[in-house]
Amino acid sequence: MGTGILTIDLDAIAANWRALAALSRAQTGAVVKADGYGCGAALVAKRLAREGARRFFVATAEEGAQLRIALGDGPEINIFSGHMAGDTAAIRDHALIPMLNSPEQAARHRSALPGHAYGVQLDTGMNRLGMEAPEWAATRTDLEAGPLTLIMSHLACADAPDHPLNAAQLAAFTAMTAGVSAPRSFAATGGILLGPDYHFDLTRPGVGLYGGAPFDAARAVVTLSLPVVQIRDVAPGETVGYAASFTAKRPTKIVTLSAGYADGLIRYMSGKARLFAGGTACPLAGRVSMDLLTVDVTDLADIPAHLDILCAQQGVDALADVAGTIGYEILTSLGGRYQRAYIGA
Ligand SMILES: *Cc1c(COP(=O)(O)O)cnc(C)c1O
Repeated sequence: MGTGILTIDLDAIAANWRALAALSRAQTGAVVKADGYGCGAALVAKRLAREGARRFFVATAEEGAQLRIALGDGPEINIFSGHMAGDTAAIRDHALIPMLNSPEQAARHRSALPGHAYGVQLDTGMNRLGMEAPEWAATRTDLEAGPLTLIMSHLACADAPDHPLNAAQLAAFTAMTAGVSAPRSFAATGGILLGPDYHFDLTRPGVGLYGGAPFDAARAVVTLSLPVVQIRDVAPGETVGYAASFTAKRPTKIVTLSAGYADGLIRYMSGKARLFAGGTACPLAGRVSMDLLTVDVTDLADIPAHLDILCAQQGVDALADVAGTIGYEILTSLGGRYQRAYIGA
């Protein structure tokens, strides 16, 4: 077996969903965009549907169409990017619910698919997606006529509880949705942790389901084990890998592992990340290559057949820290070459 083994614990995802649902003073949905944050949207959503999730969110209509095929009829599938040109057939055929982001999208949706359910996304200060207050004011009467299933907005700084934009966005959302009878949704993972004022009728966690910050109480979801391709002895003064960036200072044992930046182990980790053999940390030696890593295992008594880069000792956020990124990016970069193994499928 020449590829890494990515183990995805669906029981842990289910436990994280239940924990976030218990914190939510509201119905709890699930965000499964970007192939379920790299964990496999179809299996994740099917499992969460069994746990009781009824409202799913993805980024695009294409993702929504695939998810509908996996989930079957019943659960709601909401599309953050709304109704884009070319989306009409997918939205109609797969019963998707676009979050309308602009008066243009609203006009497109209501002329292409009269009577087809939609949500509205409002911009409350992030300036990324959603209608501005004047656009909403101008279209509100028409759009409230429905079928309007959800009105939502998104927080820019929910992972920073003290940031003043949180309260400002909350005030804006509250004001813009006063008197609306459709259910309201405001909080993703970070917003759930900000407390019940942020929960409204439906929360929509993503990263916390998959074991990522800011949900520090999350159970870990992914384990990534990489097979040893070769072991060699390197003499003091010899170098390892591209650009000869690692020089052995002592008689050194180097293992070459099968995985590299093409698998989402980004090159910036070079010289910083650690691999684990049981509880023992072994440093990367030299550059990350496209398909290979070289690791200094001199201090190991026994060299195992696999070393772990995501495991109990180093979760997605710890690996993200040394890679100069966030857990979200580590998860969504997990490569297509890994053999995926599911716990609890
Ligand atoms: C990605 C996303 C979410 C989920 O956010 P997490 O921080 O992963 O919980 C919720 N709402 C919107 C609009 C999003 O883009």
